[in-house]
Amino acid sequence: MKFNTKTIHGGQQHDPAYGSVMPPIYQTSTYAQSTPGGHKGYEYSRTHNPTRSALENALASIENGSYGLAFGSGLAAIDAVLKLLEPGDEVVSTNDLYGGSYRLFTSIYKNFGIKFHFIGMENAEQIEDYINENTKLIWVETPTNPLMNIIDIKTTAKIAKRRNVLLAVDNTFATPYLQQPLDLGADIVMHSATKYIGGHSDLVMGGLVVKDQDLAKRLYFIQNASGAVCGPQDSFLALRGIKTLHVRMQRHCENGKAVAEYLANHPKIEKVYWPGFESHPNHNIAKSQMKDFGGMVSFVTKGNNYNEAIKIVENLKIFTLAESLGGVESLAGHPASMTHASIPKAEREKTGVVDALIRLSVGIEDEADLITDLKQAIG
Ligand SMILES: *Cc1c(COP(=O)(O)O)cnc(C)c1O
Repeated sequence: MKFNTKTIHGGQQHDPAYGSVMPPIYQTSTYAQSTPGGHKGYEYSRTHNPTRSALENALASIENGSYGLAFGSGLAAIDAVLKLLEPGDEVVSTNDLYGGSYRLFTSIYKNFGIKFHFIGMENAEQIEDYINENTKLIWVETPTNPLMNIIDIKTTAKIAKRRNVLLAVDNTFATPYLQQPLDLGADIVMHSATKYIGGHSDLVMGGLVVKDQDLAKRLYFIQNASGAVCGPQDSFLALRGIKTLHVRMQRHCENGKAVAEYLANHPKIEKVYWPGFESHPNHNIAKSQMKDFGGMVSFVTKGNNYNEAIKIVENLKIFTLAESLGGVESLAGHPASMTHASIPKAEREKTGVVDALIRLSVGIEDEADLITDLKQAIG
């Protein structure tokens, strides 16, 4: 099955009870047993729920994995991966990381005796310098948020295999439409399904996909033992989202390209971050591991003026000023005052998150309307 068919049919079957084409929302916590232990594969909905199972199978299918797991949020999914570790273990992570992941690593898991190395991964070969006998996990996000750095998954996977370390890739920004990390050698793919997978800004959810049966068993154990699962209603919504992922992503990419090119030619814009530009430092890696370049675009206005950036995001009419990304509607964010406000100015500027940086999640509206909106807002 090809990807565009998998999004609709992958891992799915018509409901055995009445043949309903869409999976029913099994809004139940428990399941009747005929005799103790005599059940139809479902006992209790923290452990299994048929609507969640349908979603987990769909996630596994679109990521070319064998096992899918759905959680109550993206961070709950990351949390489950970290619970594979023990005190004394070390993690090598990219330094340009989703803020919530950084917070989970440094404010919670550090206290449990896990050591994190946050490093620049533009040159993947350098990752090996930070691996020692305690290293158990490499955590990669590509493209990164909000600066669209690209990390070479294949090279990183080779290092991980050679050193017997797990490689997890946060595939939230790219989605399996653009890149399939398991095929490139990663062990775990993670999603904030809140974003492109759900695609309609109407749910909060996380997902993991793996190929290895033993790893899947350990993660299912953690999922059930820790209990951060998502409900059947949200599972249904995410499944519905997946069915249009390929069509939405195609348009996100087209509109993202149009917006990036418009901004790059604008006299008031200093810099545009988008992996589709030949001038992007890892453009060739992006080209080799991604099908297209996605709908996320960040930019900085000339003069790096904080107040001017605030005015631009306030002036936008079709782009909504809001956190999050990946929905059908276009969103704009100002990292310095929103997602990255808690990081000291000097610290965030070191990585490129300057005062005038604006991040766009380019939606699937009409391209001309989006450009007109940017034009009037930037002036
Ligand atoms: C949003 C996001 C997360 C966290 O997911 P939640 O669903 O908000 O818990 C993790 N990684 C990336 C790249 C994200 O954008």
